[in-house]
Amino acid sequence: MNGDRSKLDKVLAAQRQYIAEREAGYRERALKMYPWVCGRCTREFTRANLRELTVHHRDHNHDNNPSDGSNWELLCVYCHDEEHRKAVNDVRYGSVAEKKREPATHNPFAGLRDAMAKKS
Ligand SMILES: [Zn+2]
Ligand SMILES: [Zn+2]
Repeated sequence: MNGDRSKLDKVLAAQRQYIAEREAGYRERALKMYPWVCGRCTREFTRANLRELTVHHRDHNHDNNPSDGSNWELLCVYCHDEEHRKAVNDVRYGSVAEKKREPATHNPFAGLRDAMAKKS
């Protein structure tokens, strides 16, 4: 009866483990590559509080882990939070709509007014 349930649990457990391993992999590499300093607030970290220093993906794609570390940024948990909140806001209130609004430089009646001026 709970065969499906345990199958699902196994899948979920495997997925959790995959995510944890992947994260441990790039986190370790990023920590070896970069100084233990938050990229935003420049807070410094030691082994004692190192778990509060997290790896942020600049393009927000956790599968994009180039070996030169160019997609990683070390951020403290607070700044990391802030970074993601900002990204969500960008999507929600993005500048796309703003850019579309252009000043009306072209006046469609300009030609008409000239034509009428000539007549009178
Ligand atoms: Zn920070
Ligand atoms: Zn991030």
